[in-house]
Amino acid sequence: MNTRAFAVDRETPFDRCAARVAAYLQDFPSCNAFGGYLKILDELADPSRYRVLRGMDFWNVPADPERVTVFLRHDIDNDPFTALRMAHAEAERGLFSTFYVLPTAVYYGIFRRDGRYCRYACMDWLYQAIAALGHEIGVHNDLLTLMLEYDISPAEFQTQELAYYHALGIRICGVCSHGSRFNALGLNNMWMFAEFGRKGCYTYAGKEYPYGELTLEQFGFRYEPYLLAREMPKEHRISDIGPDHGREMLSRLQALPCGVKSMLLTHPIHWKDQTRTEYGK
Ligand SMILES: [Zn+2]
Repeated sequence: MNTRAFAVDRETPFDRCAARVAAYLQDFPSCNAFGGYLKILDELADPSRYRVLRGMDFWNVPADPERVTVFLRHDIDNDPFTALRMAHAEAERGLFSTFYVLPTAVYYGIFRRDGRYCRYACMDWLYQAIAALGHEIGVHNDLLTLMLEYDISPAEFQTQELAYYHALGIRICGVCSHGSRFNALGLNNMWMFAEFGRKGCYTYAGKEYPYGELTLEQFGFRYEPYLLAREMPKEHRISDIGPDHGREMLSRLQALPCGVKSMLLTHPIHWKDQTRTEYGK
């Protein structure tokens, strides 16, 4: 496996990258409008009922018997611009959350024929802007795709990516698994980490790839939302995935009793305005 794949592309201009994202998003109309997300935020912005936390603050905090403790989580997947809008709208209401950046997303970078996986430096301002608002940036783990699809060593890539974030002034302590196309083949990004208790070898394109050998600790990761979710009843895990596509998020939130810890997950791609086609700083 390639141990030196992580590279930084400093040539691609932001406008070209943004246009690529916009073209991609055309094929993915949202199930909800951005205004729907603002309604959820207005609900959450009541400190007498909700204590809203970033993953880094949530994972080991005891429940508050007087309030609902909410981990506000965003898997950015392929829509970083709606993520930035969300980040602003939350900060305006005094709410802070975690945004997980996906290394295999269209905005993140590109795999080149020479075996390098080049991260677009032109997007770094966006992650820094989200962090500067007070939110947490985390890694949206897709090591499985990097390993199987591109023959990239997951341990080396993760180490090098974290060093790059560090150089950008972004501190990372959370990792959250992405549901990749390999889920359909019976695999899961979670299993890359030993903490999930799965270990094995997968044969892909004639080559054997091990999983379950990395640990969260070796990268300084302090939590993984799916480990937290294991201890959470289903009704306390609220997301925009599922048959209602997030339309019932607000009512499910309102139905939560005080004293519970809850995880509220949104994917920005499901909350962009359909007519919004211009992206920029
Ligand atoms: Zn994802």
